[in-house]
Amino acid sequence: MSAYPHLLSPLRAGSLTLPHRVIMGSMHTGLEETPGGEHELARFYVERVRGGAGLIVTGGVSPNEEGAAREGGAHLSAEEQLPPHRTVTDAVHAEGGLIALQLMHSGRYAMHADAVAPSPVRAPINRVTPRELSTEDVERTVEDFAHAALLAQRAGYDGVEIMGSEGYLINEFLVEHTNRRTDRWGGSPEARRRFAVEVVRRVREATGPEFLIMYRLSALDLVQDAQEFDQVLALGREVEAAGASVINTGIGWHEARIPTIATSVPPAGFTWVSRALREHLSVPVAAVNRMNTPEIGEAVIERGDADLVCLARPFLADPQFVAKARAERPDEINTCIACNQACLDHTFSGKRMSCLVNPRAMREDELVLGPTRTAERIAVVGAGPAGLAFAEAAAQRGHRVTVFEEHTEIGGQFQLARLIPGKEDYAHTIRYFRTRLAELGVTVHTGRTATAADLDFADRVVLATGVSPRVPGIPGEDGPSVLGYKEVLAGAPVGERVAIIGGGGIGFDVAHFLTHDPHADFYREWGVDRTLEARGGLLRPEPAAPLRRVTVLQRTPGKPGARLGTTTGWIHRAELRMADVEFVTGVQYQRIDEQGVHVLVPAPEPAEPQGAAASRASGGTTPPRSGGAPAARHEAPGGAQATVVAEAPGLVELLVPADTVVLCAGQESRAELASELTGDRPVHVVGGAHVASELDAKRAIKEAVELAASLP
Ligand code: NAP
Ligand code: SF4
Repeated sequence: MSAYPHLLSPLRAGSLTLPHRVIMGSMHTGLEETPGGEHELARFYVERVRGGAGLIVTGGVSPNEEGAAREGGAHLSAEEQLPPHRTVTDAVHAEGGLIALQLMHSGRYAMHADAVAPSPVRAPINRVTPRELSTEDVERTVEDFAHAALLAQRAGYDGVEIMGSEGYLINEFLVEHTNRRTDRWGGSPEARRRFAVEVVRRVREATGPEFLIMYRLSALDLVQDAQEFDQVLALGREVEAAGASVINTGIGWHEARIPTIATSVPPAGFTWVSRALREHLSVPVAAVNRMNTPEIGEAVIERGDADLVCLARPFLADPQFVAKARAERPDEINTCIACNQACLDHTFSGKRMSCLVNPRAMREDELVLGPTRTAERIAVVGAGPAGLAFAEAAAQRGHRVTVFEEHTEIGGQFQLARLIPGKEDYAHTIRYFRTRLAELGVTVHTGRTATAADLDFADRVVLATGVSPRVPGIPGEDGPSVLGYKEVLAGAPVGERVAIIGGGGIGFDVAHFLTHDPHADFYREWGVDRTLEARGGLLRPEPAAPLRRVTVLQRTPGKPGARLGTTTGWIHRAELRMADVEFVTGVQYQRIDEQGVHVLVPAPEPAEPQGAAASRASGGTTPPRSGGAPAARHEAPGGAQATVVAEAPGLVELLVPADTVVLCAGQESRAELASELTGDRPVHVVGGAHVASELDAKRAIKEAVELAASLP
């Protein structure tokens, strides 16, 4: 019997038989609106179908021009637009796959001047105030959906997914805050549902009884003044009656300030919502968000939370997700770690989507790992992300690879990352590489610092020796209260008051590690109502008490964490805000002593009270409490306090009291071995060993795989 009997069993959905319970969910790749992009898009999908994907949902395509996500964004409204779609559907069908077009009208999230919405209410994440649709416009838009679905059918799609969640147009009609209309499309919950139901009804009418219609239903809006859950259920029933064949679950609007897909969301963290829907509906229900292994998918289906699981990012990370599950080789799955760094962060910054752990995603034809013409003996020094990614890719091409790692475990910086609360999934990447290297016959020497002589055997050497933490050179940094971040993550005792030197990615992670209570409840902390009684599922957040009082310092003025990920930076900042972490930015370090860290910050304007100076120094994130803060103290929520100890013209000396000071002052490259190597064989330096500044695993892995692909 299969290890995943529920996940891998077929399911009838409308008139289609799906080969298993895994839907490849919609991802906007950036190729949808690229002229000629259909060929690459087809190859992207074909690689996934060959890897076992059953039903694929495309990236969002608007039923008309005004609904496109940005100017010139993908829309489908005319016959002459069909040929590129045919290229995609033919390619998918030739491999035995199924494909549905997602119809997504962006509504007030559209980033162009012609954005429209039920009411002219600007989204907090968009600068554009939408134009209100007239009654006739609304009727025309319903027709546009029906027409686009008919065109999709003619283009060969097996169905459509109607995007009714995440805060896009259909969802905006459903919620009082964004639908203030007084015509038949607003004014009561029933009238607000009319648009969604009419769209489904007209799409069914236009496409006939056989066509698959998935409706993505916003089951938990996670915004103010949103739908009650009984309204959600009423909508589910009405949409089903109007002709939907499958209901997919939507969780949270894009503007919601609750993480829904980031690493910090518990595994399968919202399938309880799908379960509540499923109990009241008769068509199959799909669950979404933070399901990245076949085990998780199997458990969701087995316990009856959903009939299907809809996974998107896991198919970027590993096109063979389903095939490997079928073959019962789950350890070989390159697991999505929910970092968003190369997928959503790229999409939202207008770059082509890819994947941090799989840089070949969306570059299938460009980054080819074909068999080598000349098998070489290659030595790789360092088994962090760069060394491991190179070793895997080179061995896959047929090279004989030997890896040297000074630590007893492979993984490098990922061994540290996996210790951060919410980043436990980084351990999957280490497991993946361990499995793959063993399978490919790569020799791995751990606990061994390679010398130049050790590498004499190799035809080619790759130095992936990574980084060392920067020693910032602050007087007193060798004192007993000062620790490096690695020691802290390894479990060194840390006092109750902590100052962190450096507010980059690692400074943020360490602040979270030191303040976050491992027993804290995600839903309670962020204010999610698991009883489904609160409107939109929103409750008042109740963060757990922070474990320590932490202050993060950085020399750069302005917003702390400015370089964190586009789609996740706000989460890291919110986590630290909830833990009352205080920031002091624009500092000049003076010294560290037994009292803490002494810094200079710019003095306040003469008329301002002294407390305001420290507040400004904090980058404006920690305004002094109103009403009675002592003039010479820098007070922050939760009580972390910097004390003004001296003033000079234009400058204030602050003491940031700390029992422990943690150095998170960035990284420096380590590639000393390069100068000791002899012979005229090629030597390559990759990853952090190559460039440490702003090192991130995305660049390190990509650079390593590109190097492996470029070898003869
Ligand atoms: P980083 O992000 O470059 O941050 C280094 C920090 O050290 C900065 O705040 C910098 O601030 C400070 N610094 C630099 N030189 C200093 C000096 N001489 N004295 C005192 N402070 C100094 O590096 P990282 O935190 O080590 O992270 C390494 C990489 O991993 C980065 O690319 C990071 O983005 C990535 N990462 C990301 C995440 C995430 O997104 N959640 C988590 C972990 C790591 P000032 O120069 O202003 O003082
Ligand atoms: Fe997953 Fe990160 Fe890859 Fe996106 S970039 S698919 S979140 S591993």
